[in-house]
Amino acid sequence: MALRNIRTYGDEILRKKSRSIDVVNDRIKTLIKDMFETMYEADGVGLAAPQVGILKRVVVIDVGEGPIALINPEIIEQGGKYIDVEGCLSVPGEQGEVERPEKIKVKALNEEGKEIILEAEELFARAICHEVDHLNGVLFVDKIIKSEE
Ligand code: ZN
Repeated sequence: MALRNIRTYGDEILRKKSRSIDVVNDRIKTLIKDMFETMYEADGVGLAAPQVGILKRVVVIDVGEGPIALINPEIIEQGGKYIDVEGCLSVPGEQGEVERPEKIKVKALNEEGKEIILEAEELFARAICHEVDHLNGVLFVDKIIKSEE
């Protein structure tokens, strides 16, 4: 395992769209392990592959309910909305209020390459939405409705 460099605001890779993964091979599994290590080291609750310079549709999340890796995540249902403060490891020092769905249903592949459907609420749902945005070149600062001082 190895720590990877986190790309920060202004790096154009953060604005690119990531590609889907066809086969979950050893390289992807290593990427996932490295992403978890990098995320924990940086004290984050989520990390998307483009944040470490890899334009592939992989995200890792741990909002305190255990680590989860999602490959090719797709939000297939969403409901409600709520506003809360967000930050991002790629935008150090910046925080702001962002509106997200309260509940989502996500389709993805897990680390074994099996399709899973996951339901998430509140902080977990927020983290998934934030990371899926990264895969489409979208940053939370694009969606801030009120900046924190
Ligand atoms: Zn982020």
